Amino acid sequence: MTKYKLEYIWLDGYTPVPNLRGKTQIKEFDSFPSLEQLPLWGFDGSSTKQAEGSSSDCVLKPVRVFPDAARTNGVLVLCEVMMPDGKTPHPSNTRATILDDEGAWFGFEQEYFFYKDGRPLGFPASGYPAPQGPYYTGVGYKNVGDIARQIVEEHLDLCLAAGINHEGINAEVAKGQWEFQIFGKGSKKAADEIWMARYLLLRLCEKYGVDIEFHCKPLGDTDWNGSGMHCNFSTKFMREIGGKAYFERLMAAFDAAREDHIAVYGPDNHMRLTGKHETASIHTFSYGVADRGASIRVPHSFVNNGYKGYLEDRRPNSQGDPYQIASQVLKTISSVPTDSDVSAAA
Ligand code: ADP
Ligand code: MN
Ligand code: MN
Ligand code: MN
Repeated sequence: MTKYKLEYIWLDGYTPVPNLRGKTQIKEFDSFPSLEQLPLWGFDGSSTKQAEGSSSDCVLKPVRVFPDAARTNGVLVLCEVMMPDGKTPHPSNTRATILDDEGAWFGFEQEYFFYKDGRPLGFPASGYPAPQGPYYTGVGYKNVGDIARQIVEEHLDLCLAAGINHEGINAEVAKGQWEFQIFGKGSKKAADEIWMARYLLLRLCEKYGVDIEFHCKPLGDTDWNGSGMHCNFSTKFMREIGGKAYFERLMAAFDAAREDHIAVYGPDNHMRLTGKHETASIHTFSYGVADRGASIRVPHSFVNNGYKGYLEDRRPNSQGDPYQIASQVLKTISSVPTDSDVSAAA
């Protein structure tokens, strides 16, 4: 038997953005535990805005398990928060009730800033560094500094060791800003892994004395980019059948549901979706081929393949909840009739 360090990780009850929380329990197993072997556990919900002090117990229900390469015999246990009965999802549990479809694929591009001493890593103590331009995908000390890449590489290795489906990383447009991409099949898979990758990044940065700023516009109304979390999505129908008429109905449905999307695309998005810095205005819906100033960017490959493939919703921001983003995208898609639905109705 081996003693494993099980880190139970959950989202707390803070709004509009939950925090990640975690605590460790030690348990013995013959080998690396499977999800089914992991017991429910509890925590004091009155300390996380999830319960009143008089009745403070909340239940942690394991839903995903990942190896934790940072710890000897470490296990990362992603949990949903349940009511004391262990069966009813807690109101803060946005994962339990989302729409799911294993044929729906999601690729999230998580952008974020490293922060130190209250400013982006690499910014001088007062004023600004040289303007944006050389930092995106840049190389060299004056562009990326001496510590950011080390953190990014370590984070990548931790995520890959955990089995997180990272697809890539890059330095972003602002100094101190980076991105990673995670892809998954089904609404929950990529979203779970975004939360787990956020956790691993935050935890890793503790030892560097660096914070992660996930706010979508940390530098406010300046010529510095904000952070998004573009949501690339496709359903089986979009990949295999698609077509121009379906695409146009899909875009009309996204237009009609604009407010529902914005409501779950992350707080303070009006600060970011200004129409500048590769964003669309928050007040209108637009789409365009290869258009990085549109709400939805249509890849060239999509049009060239007969309106089949994936689309990129550029509006979700870096603080968005990927569970709710994926679910809203699916909800809008599922309201759109296919060509055969349309001709059957005619
Ligand atoms: P860019 O920065 O040009 O917008 P990235 O390469 O950072 O693009 O991200 C593209 C994303 O698209 C990746 O996360 C990838 O997983 C995702 N993606 C690719 N194909 C599909 C697909 N068929 N369905 C859903 N997402 C996809
Ligand atoms: Mn990208
Ligand atoms: Mn990007
Ligand atoms: Mn993108």
